[in-house]
Amino acid sequence: MEYIFSLEFIYLIASITYILGLKMLGHPETARKGNLIAAGGMTLAIFGTLFLYQGEVSAQIYAFIGLAIFIGTIIGWLVAKKVAMTKMPELVSLFNGMGGASAALIGLIEFHHYVGDTISIVTILAGVIIGSISFSGSMIAWAKLNGTINKPLRLPKYNLLNNVIFVVLIFFAAYIAYIGSSSQLYLYILFFGALAYGVLFVLPIGGADMPVVISLLNSFTGLAAALGGFLYGNMVMLTGGILVGSAGTILTFAMCDAMNRSLFNVIFGGFGDTDTSAEGGSSAIKGTIKKTTASDVAILMNYSQRIIFVPGYGLAVAQAQHAIHELEQLLISKGIEVKYAIHPVAGRMPGHMNVLLAETNVDYDKLAEMEDVNPEFKNTDVVFVVGANDVVNPAAHNDPSSPIYGMPILDVENAKQIIVNKRSMKPGYAGIENELFYNQKTSMLFGDAKTIIQALITELKGM
Ligand code: NDP
Repeated sequence: MEYIFSLEFIYLIASITYILGLKMLGHPETARKGNLIAAGGMTLAIFGTLFLYQGEVSAQIYAFIGLAIFIGTIIGWLVAKKVAMTKMPELVSLFNGMGGASAALIGLIEFHHYVGDTISIVTILAGVIIGSISFSGSMIAWAKLNGTINKPLRLPKYNLLNNVIFVVLIFFAAYIAYIGSSSQLYLYILFFGALAYGVLFVLPIGGADMPVVISLLNSFTGLAAALGGFLYGNMVMLTGGILVGSAGTILTFAMCDAMNRSLFNVIFGGFGDTDTSAEGGSSAIKGTIKKTTASDVAILMNYSQRIIFVPGYGLAVAQAQHAIHELEQLLISKGIEVKYAIHPVAGRMPGHMNVLLAETNVDYDKLAEMEDVNPEFKNTDVVFVVGANDVVNPAAHNDPSSPIYGMPILDVENAKQIIVNKRSMKPGYAGIENELFYNQKTSMLFGDAKTIIQALITELKGM
């Protein structure tokens, strides 16, 4: 019985909830519950630590902790409630930065307590370096995603410079540990050096690669938290840190795979810095586009047997998830088979389309993954591309000079008819033109996704 009220037992339960939660995040149907379970475990770990910790804690410290939890909860709650789905990567970046900062602060505060204990000092210095890089890097990623910094900034020979700074940081930390220094000055030089490295590391990376960078920084934060857990011998911190670190690493590589890029290329390649704001896009592709209207598309859909929707970032921007679900149900009620083709990097974060469509209760069986749906396009009467661009760009197959060459895409050009809905001829995130729009089978249905889909619904209801 005594064990049940021990901190070890609470930490064991909390660790299990993290593993369970993470597993449940793997499927849209269980993701929400998984998130709640892991959050419940975290709450348990926090309150367990507060009330079952054996050491001496003054009432004043309790008051500070209580105040910090209160303020943090209010801010976190308000921000999470308010944030638009399309701004989620920014929020993740901000939260991740806070995790990195906490890990670095632990190191700054604990350093002088452990002078003489080399293993602990090495752990602390590693935590300070990794946590600081994660903090400052995440802040730059956040500023890039929200447009405050809208161009990659590159110093001359920035890759070489960054590598030199990184090596100097490691040697300096090794020197502090080796001589057993108790110098706070050295510690702060290391701290500010690591902060500067985080800034310089992320600044040159293009905006399109920010989600990958955030995921990488997220794994750094996990590692820094795990080091804190190792320092304190705190199992729940160690488990949580390891899980965040490894999940972040797996996600980073999964995203690189889905874009057919190496991590090396993401960090040193400078992809995704093309200015996508140019009105009308460039005109490297020769040919003419065919425009269509909602009433023509409604007629086409009405006489189809199989339709595949291809949602992309524009669906999220337009907040057209409810409208597309209504369109899907209407078509199904007319005996038409409808599916959604989900590209792994459609949108601006992994699983973006799944999350968006789950919000409106689209049946999960209707969501088809890229590998499963690609062979089906040739038997499809109409493909309706809604606010997607890069993920259906045939240049990934046909143009070796294209930055997205080799990226797996949805082979929509194999369908009998292709309808593309977007607002203009502007490119997508990769900043490149799309020859699909000039395909003879393609008709462009210009307009905001929500307005267009609502118009389609009205037309179809009248048929
Ligand atoms: P894209 O960014 O390629 O294209 C989105 C299109 O949506 C734009 O061309 C835009 O055209 C259109 N659009 C924007 N607003 C609206 C609106 N209100 N109504 C209708 N259309 C609209 O998106 P994809 O989803 O095809 O591809 C995602 C891209 O993001 C890929 O390059 C991927 O590599 C990258 N990426 C994705 C990550 C992820 O985890 N998901 C991570 C990192 C990068 P217009 O302005 O003319 O309307």
